[in-house]
Amino acid sequence: MEEITIHEFDFSLINEFFTELERQGPGSSEETIRALGFIGNLSNKTKIADLGCGTGAQTMVLAQNTEATITALDLYAGSIDKLNATARKLGLQNRVKGIVGSMDNLPFQNEEFDLIWSEGAIANIGFEKGLNHWKGFLKKDGYIAVTYESWFTDERPAEIEKWWLDAVPEIGTIGYNISIMQKTGYIPVAVFILPENCWIDNYFVPQKARQEEFLKKHAGNKTVENMIEFMRREADLYSKYKQYYGYVFYIGKKM
Ligand code: SAM
Repeated sequence: MEEITIHEFDFSLINEFFTELERQGPGSSEETIRALGFIGNLSNKTKIADLGCGTGAQTMVLAQNTEATITALDLYAGSIDKLNATARKLGLQNRVKGIVGSMDNLPFQNEEFDLIWSEGAIANIGFEKGLNHWKGFLKKDGYIAVTYESWFTDERPAEIEKWWLDAVPEIGTIGYNISIMQKTGYIPVAVFILPENCWIDNYFVPQKARQEEFLKKHAGNKTVENMIEFMRREADLYSKYKQYYGYVFYIGKKM
């Protein structure tokens, strides 16, 4: 049987599925706060950009644990509407602003930000390309903090290798990704692996009820059935091969 790949699904269908969930990728408040602990010189003058922010789970954590002003950007307008509504609900609207835009063509000034954040999103434009493009928007000595899919070992079973090479063609090992950070002009400050609960409790488990609901809502729609099958396979593969890969937080300082 021909394997289904993520590239076959419509961007808006994937987002329609995920915007009803609190998070759109693996992660947790605890790990966002852990990464924030490596960033120096935070103050009420700090300006943060959160790229590929989704509905803003990590944006709100950043806002609640700093005094910074945050611009959160995502390509999907539905996510940005939700993010701005949450910011208003939490009384954070004066410091948190969601805008629609693409992270490969940022609508910002040169050296505008002290910190660029991005969880689970840089693969959409590529790790090296993203690090290169975003650097121009960071002040000297500014920080970058991104999570990115990475191999934990130099070799892995063919089944999981094929899956990830299709989803993220430039996926590399942690050591390789650190070398890319250095090559693109950042000093690596900290690197750590997101724990399993970020995937299981915060990503795969909440998807289950939404999958049932989505299948009912789109009954008879073959694309939706394939998309849910793809998501279930992603979860199965994680439980089978999680010792070989995961999301890694890469934190660097612009040289
Ligand atoms: N950061 C959120 C989180 O961790 O819950 C969302 C992560 S989700 C896996 C990836 C996000 O990247 C989606 O919200 C998607 O709309 C966004 N995205 C994809 N391509 C993009 C682009 N070119 N520019 C901006 N956002 C993009």
